[in-house]
Amino acid sequence: MEKGILIVISGFSGAGKGTIVKKLLKTYDNYALSVSMTTRSPREGEREGIEYFFTDQESFKKEISAGGLIEYAMYCGNYYGTPRGYVEDQLQAGRDVILEIEIQGALKIKEQIPECLLLFVTPPSAKELERRLTDRGTESDDVIRRRLARASEESEGMEAYDYIVVNDKLDECVREINGLVDAARRAPVRRKAFIKEIRDELKEFAKGAE
Ligand code: 5GP
Repeated sequence: MEKGILIVISGFSGAGKGTIVKKLLKTYDNYALSVSMTTRSPREGEREGIEYFFTDQESFKKEISAGGLIEYAMYCGNYYGTPRGYVEDQLQAGRDVILEIEIQGALKIKEQIPECLLLFVTPPSAKELERRLTDRGTESDDVIRRRLARASEESEGMEAYDYIVVNDKLDECVREINGLVDAARRAPVRRKAFIKEIRDELKEFAKGAE
């Protein structure tokens, strides 16, 4: 069986990544979502093992030393990291694994797994981003300001991604992302067995023509 595709979804805080990912998982059955580990405190309604594995700095550092994380990064004063085991198992089982992570982590993943798909999700404008962050109502003004400043920094890295996806209408955005994943399945790096087969067959035909 062909291994699954590792899909990294990044984007400004407030771009709607969480909603997009939920919808992708609900609409299509080929996706699996990696749950990250973080030292950030849970927001209201967040559950252990669903949104994140919540932990403290000491345990997080132990996980780093043990090689249990594929990547990790510091974001607004907290550690976030991707547990290795789940991702590798799911890819091996042919499922397309989604990592919803920020840019430093995305770049580390690309270094290790060059055939991964890096998607950057953004609202149509900066003004819209500010509106979405404010409307969410889960963060203080100070945190919103920090997240907007971080978004400005992150916008410098947008060129590193394979595709920029504008999240204006949710359904369209989800369809678009699924289309990009489908297209990635056709990349030569994922069609190695097919390429070999047709090449070998053609060689046989070519022999006959000699
Ligand atoms: P939040 O605190 O809003 O849940 O997440 C803050 C940022 O951390 C988001 O950009 C999110 O995508 C990113 N993030 C979540 N999990 C991980 C992870 O495992 N690794 C990295 N590098 N970033 C993560």
